Amino acid sequence: MGAPGEFRISITKEDLVFAAAHFITFAGHRCETLHGHNYRASVRLEGALDSDSWYVTDFSVVKQIMRRLTGELDHKVLLPTENPIVAVKKDGPRVAVAVSGEPRYVFPEGDCLLLPIPNTTVEMLARHLAGRLRAELAAVGVTHLRLIELEVEENFGQSATYRETLSPP
Ligand SMILES: [Zn+2]
Repeated sequence: MGAPGEFRISITKEDLVFAAAHFITFAGHRCETLHGHNYRASVRLEGALDSDSWYVTDFSVVKQIMRRLTGELDHKVLLPTENPIVAVKKDGPRVAVAVSGEPRYVFPEGDCLLLPIPNTTVEMLARHLAGRLRAELAAVGVTHLRLIELEVEENFGQSATYRETLSPP
């Protein structure tokens, strides 16, 4: 047995990408026009070793979850449902979006992903993905992690990282 300590693993695979459309709002009722990015996600996890397997957690499990989560965002219009000036309303097979009370877009429902976040910034996308990853890992029994770091890049060299410290049971 080596000295007790913690390890960090990183998953920065090239297939953890999603192409999506979005617009963000700024303070003072300003709002971008709709546009797209080729986003890329990566994950770092810290914790003690799993005592049976001598790894922090199984890479393949994390990759599988992350591929599914980025797949949910792929080829979608990302819409925030908690933005104070963006109203997103399901209307039969369509989603109607109004900004500051003005009708702005109508999309086919299947092309949209409604996210419970206040703005579709990379920061909020990173926090959203980290929360989903944490829940999915817990569901498969990975509960000993100390830290989840999730980075979302929307352009080369332009990214946000959300970091959450966890308290293992
Ligand atoms: Zn953008």
